[in-house]
Parts: sequence; C-alpha cells; structure tokens
Amino acid sequence: MRVPFGDLAREFEGQQARLEQAALRVLRSGRYVLADEVTAFEREWAAFCGVEHAVGVASGTDALHLALRGVGVGPGDEVITVPNAAGYTAFALRQIGARPVYADVDARTWTIDPVSVDRRVTGRTRAIVPVHLYGAPADMRALAEVARRHNIPIVEDCAQAHGAEAHGRPVGAWGVAACWSFYPTKNLGALGDGGAVTTGDAALSEKIRRLRQYGWTDKYCAVEPGGFNSRLDELQASLLRVKLGMLPARNERRRAIARLYHALLAGTPGLELPAGQPGHVYHLFVIRVLDGRRDALRDALARMGIGAAVHYPMLDYLQPALAGLGDGPGAAPVAERLANEVLSLPCYPELTDDEVRAVAEGVKEIMSYEL
Ligand SMILES: *Cc1c(COP(=O)(O)O)cnc(C)c1O
Repeated sequence: MRVPFGDLAREFEGQQARLEQAALRVLRSGRYVLADEVTAFEREWAAFCGVEHAVGVASGTDALHLALRGVGVGPGDEVITVPNAAGYTAFALRQIGARPVYADVDARTWTIDPVSVDRRVTGRTRAIVPVHLYGAPADMRALAEVARRHNIPIVEDCAQAHGAEAHGRPVGAWGVAACWSFYPTKNLGALGDGGAVTTGDAALSEKIRRLRQYGWTDKYCAVEPGGFNSRLDELQASLLRVKLGMLPARNERRRAIARLYHALLAGTPGLELPAGQPGHVYHLFVIRVLDGRRDALRDALARMGIGAAVHYPMLDYLQPALAGLGDGPGAAPVAERLANEVLSLPCYPELTDDEVRAVAEGVKEIMSYEL
C-alpha cells in the first residue's frame, strides 16, 4: 500500500463545498484586505486560544518578527530559543539585527530544556522563544519559573501546536505573546500563507497592529517607527474560519492515529517513540531511530511507497546562512544527536487506520532486518 507523507488534496476534497462557499463570499464582496473576515477570524482565533487579542499577519515567520519587535527586541539583543525547529526565530531575529542564543532540548520530550535556558541568560537577553515542537507542549511551568526569575518575557512559537495544552492550559496563553503559522500543512492551515500573534496585552496587540501596516495608526498616518506590510488577507481568513470549526475534531483524529502508532510500534527494537505527554496535538508523529539506521529506514520505506521525512536534518547554527550569528557545533549536544535520529511518519487526519497499520508494519519489517 502506498502511503503519501501528506495529502492536502485529500483534505480539500472533504471540505470543498464549505471552502468554496466562503471563498465566493469574499470574491463577491469586493473587499480583499483587512476587512470583515479578518476581524471575525481574529476574534474567533483569540477566543479559541483563550486570550483577548489576535492580530492576523502574513506568515508565522512574520508573527515571530513582529511579536519580538513588539516586546522590545532590538539590534544587538539576544533571544534564547532552540536550534532544532528549522530556524524561523533566527530568520525573524536577523531582520531585527538581534542574535539567537541556543538552549538545548530535553532528551525525552525534544522540547526546550528550562535548565539549559537558565544557563544561557545574559544581561543582553530580551526574550525566550520556546517551540511546541511537533505539537508537543514544552515544559511551560518550569520555563515560566526561569523567565520570571530573570524577568524576561516569553514569546511562544505555537506554529506546530494549534489546540495543544501544557499542564492543562492552552499553549499560547503562557507567554506575553504567541506566534502562529497557518501554512497549509499546519494543524490549522490556510490555502496559502498566513499567521497571527495572540496576546493578552492590549497595548502590545495595538503595537503589532501598527507594525503590520506601515506603522499606521490611521490610514496614511505612520506613527510607529519601523512598520512593515504583513497582513492576513480576507480570502485566507474566510477559509481559516471554516477550518477552525473542524480543528478540535481533526486534532482528536491526529491523537487517535498517534495512539494507534504507539500500540503497533511499542517494543520495536531500535526505535524510541514520542513521549506522548498530555495536550500533544501531533502536528507530526516523530520517532527516534537508533544505531545510525534513520536514513536507511527512510529510504527503505520510500521503496515501499511510504513517505517519511526528517524534521529537521540541520540545526540552525549549522546552516550556512545562519552560521556566524552566534553558537557553533557543540552548543546543544542533545539536539545535535536527535537531528540524526528523528524520523516523521505520515500523520494527518485523513489517514485511514489501514494506512497507519501499513506504515507500522513496514517500519517493523525493515527494523527486523540484520544490518
Ligand atoms: C511553520 C513554522 C514557522 C513559520 O511559519 P511560516 O508561516 O512558514 O512562516 C515558525 N515556527 C515553526 C516551529 C514552524 O513549524
């Protein structure tokens, strides 16, 4: 059985009528940028996240960029984050002229290690950006304690964790601000690019509103220095409103798929399964493949027609375009080891139980071969 790693066309098929209706409503309205759909989506998204304010922007990377500027990160400042989440915070910081400083990750949960964060705080640290990686909530209770002790704001990267909870409380509601991406493959995905910043701080939300549109307070009146053009558009907002209604059920299906993988793969020699902490929404189902067999497993699965992918193959500070911003090899040893061992198996709501079984059987068969 062929099992693609992802299949957005399959998702669209099940939602087609509702999405077409929403899109047509916008096309016929004659209003395409920052109008009723964005306002309504911002209200609905804030309510879903359990915070007061949401500001729609053009992407998750822009959400990080504007939120970090919003909390006062400036040129030469340091921001602590993890190196194993594909570099989006580093890309945002480069636009500010600020510097990423990398904390290591926990060996069991693969998310930010609060003890490592504590060690990396300096007099120049202006923010901490935990990533709820793969949909797994970071240890926000311990991290919040470290942040409080040093009086440094937390800006959460929730781009992979729509609907996740840490210690029973929604991710995004822990930090001063939270950043979301609505890239099509995310748990809540648009049919193009989109993002948002959520916050409980009214002044911060207003500042980000100004930053996303040239620094304007009113039309053609730029008051906030250093504004940009980073807006969520009406079409994407209308589609996101439709898909938001399906998010809880779709996250539940992701969890069911994860439970099935856990049941089928438990005890397989050479594999470590995800920690599976409560509140996980399985944006990705990621396993660790030990003994240097990760690439061989991925390639053998591909020969069977089963898609698997690596999230992510190269740590931030080893990427040529990001080298020289700060840390070098050895900065985060746990993350460095994981980058050679992680493998993502297909995990999306449209996947059938039979497909999950086919993937698990393929994995077990390949792992049973002698090397
Ligand atoms: C996808 C993602 C982003 C960036 O979102 P874009 O909308 O692609 O700019 C940021 N952080 C994480 C962890 C992501 O997975």
